[in-house]
Amino acid sequence: MDDIRITELNPLPTSRTNSILTTMSIRAVIIGTGSALSERSYGSSAAIVTEHGLILIDCPDAILRAMRDASKTSGIPLDAMRITDILVTHLHGDHVNGLETIGWKHWIARQTAPAAPPRIHTIEVVARRLWERLAPSMDQNGSAKLEDYFSVNVLEPGTTTLISDLAVEVRPTEHLIPCCGFRISRGGATLGWSGDTRFDPSHIDWLSTADVIVHETTESRVHTPIACLNALDPAVRAKMRLIHMDDAFDQTSTDIAVLTDGQVLDVSPSGR
Ligand SMILES: [Zn+2]
Repeated sequence: MDDIRITELNPLPTSRTNSILTTMSIRAVIIGTGSALSERSYGSSAAIVTEHGLILIDCPDAILRAMRDASKTSGIPLDAMRITDILVTHLHGDHVNGLETIGWKHWIARQTAPAAPPRIHTIEVVARRLWERLAPSMDQNGSAKLEDYFSVNVLEPGTTTLISDLAVEVRPTEHLIPCCGFRISRGGATLGWSGDTRFDPSHIDWLSTADVIVHETTESRVHTPIACLNALDPAVRAKMRLIHMDDAFDQTSTDIAVLTDGQVLDVSPSGR
């Protein structure tokens, strides 16, 4: 990563940075594991626990109930008011329908207790249309703007951005609409998050430097069928965890571990 520009959004004092970088693990609470059409699981998403608050990866439908349920299952407090940042993969509803709720909840709180709005991080093609998607329900008859609810930070492929105490890299994926995946690092540990993607060996190569890869699977030409993942190198399969499953997904069809709603995913350096 030495040749990559680091954008410090919220630089920390050096001594503090050092103490954070020695925390050699990432804790993510999986909020949901379902595909867009799942009737029993929340949309694929997670909350990463940092010492500054929570960083969401995507923000699905019924986000407050989903976070409460994940908190109950995991035993880890997940207060929506502690969300500082949201990494957005793309604008399909099963990944962003909760943004309106989080935006309003924080906006209402700020009317009496000034605070910085949550930050949204995504690639430029997704950021460009974010307000187009939120405005009809949030523009307060034309008087409010996206910045009234969220600050938006565009992530550039090939650069590393420091978000809270995590170093985040982004890579566009091939999906039905613009989408991206992430590599999220703290200390020596890296979590790979595929985002929605058709089966793409080059994307899996990029993710494979991570210690744990959360990869989507759904039987569709714009997603990744399980048979494609089953054919991967055993070392990659061993560190892969599946998400974005249809309700009909057959767990016996694969030896790759399947995530569940509310599961705690601790990522530690694997000594790569
Ligand atoms: Zn999608």
